[in-house]
Amino acid sequence: MNMPIQPARQTTVIKTAEIDAMATTLFRPMGADGVYARTADYELVIEKLSALISSYRDAEAEILRFPPVMSRFQLEKSGYLKSFPNLLGCVCALHGSESEINQAVGRHDAGGDWTTSLSPADLVLSPAACYPVYPIAAARGVVPAEGYVFDIAADVFRHEPSREIDRFQSFRMREYVCIGAAQHVSDFRARWMDRAQEIASNLALPFTLETASDPFFGRMGQMKAVAQLQAALKFELLIPVRSHEKQTACMSFNYHKEHFGTVWDMKLQSGEPAHSGCVAFGMDRLAVAMFAIHGLDMTKWPAGVRKTLSLS
Ligand code: 5GP
Ligand code: ZN
Repeated sequence: MNMPIQPARQTTVIKTAEIDAMATTLFRPMGADGVYARTADYELVIEKLSALISSYRDAEAEILRFPPVMSRFQLEKSGYLKSFPNLLGCVCALHGSESEINQAVGRHDAGGDWTTSLSPADLVLSPAACYPVYPIAAARGVVPAEGYVFDIAADVFRHEPSREIDRFQSFRMREYVCIGAAQHVSDFRARWMDRAQEIASNLALPFTLETASDPFFGRMGQMKAVAQLQAALKFELLIPVRSHEKQTACMSFNYHKEHFGTVWDMKLQSGEPAHSGCVAFGMDRLAVAMFAIHGLDMTKWPAGVRKTLSLS
């Protein structure tokens, strides 16, 4: 694959104290690590970044916005538990009769534990924006020759509490998803890797683009990660948000091969399973990166950046 790789500029020195000050300015605590209330300036940057990403959208893309929860059955069927069971958040509720529910509440009132009465609902917290789109596409029958492109977004959850400013438990993910023949999907991903680099350059964000692997769970997971790296199924656009040594993945470019086509029996006109790929923008990481690189005062951001975001 012929891709320009731009080395991250080494000029930005990021200090821990500055990062802590950034968190205090941009967010308000909500009593849990990695879950924050966002301030007006921060949200303005999220909105402007969203609009910028929309301006690059393919004309044929179908727009869908998902809620923060999805069907537990659909996520199980997608194979999520085989790869990332440790990250999943499941919705639980009090399902019993009125008297059983009252007993649970009574236990809480008496200082006891009401949560022992909880049982799982049919919903999980979406761990990535794109899982619900494949069954929607599959339900339409054979994939048309030109394939599908979706523009999707969701609030997602991953159970990895952290105090780092670039790791949230609840964050916003925007994605473009392509479903179709293998070549079609790989062209889509290559096109988006170019566009993403243009976006990062226009935002004056230092970056590198590298092959990557997902944090698969357990010992078996390590083998999956190696195979994913060897097949270059995932690339990430990394930005030095907290440090130059450990850069932060702010966008990812994923090729799922025929995984979702097989899971959802979604076929091409040839009868072969459809391939799919997605480009994911971590909106909160991108916004944090903007403040980390350009400073907390948006009025002092470089003129070109302000113009790109229509801030002036
Ligand atoms: P992926 O599905 O590739 O793991 O995640 C897609 C994008 O979501 C990543 O490139 C990143 O920008 C964002 N993301 C992943 N994990 C986190 C996280 O813990 N916190 C935040 N704020 N964003 C994340
Ligand atoms: Zn995706």
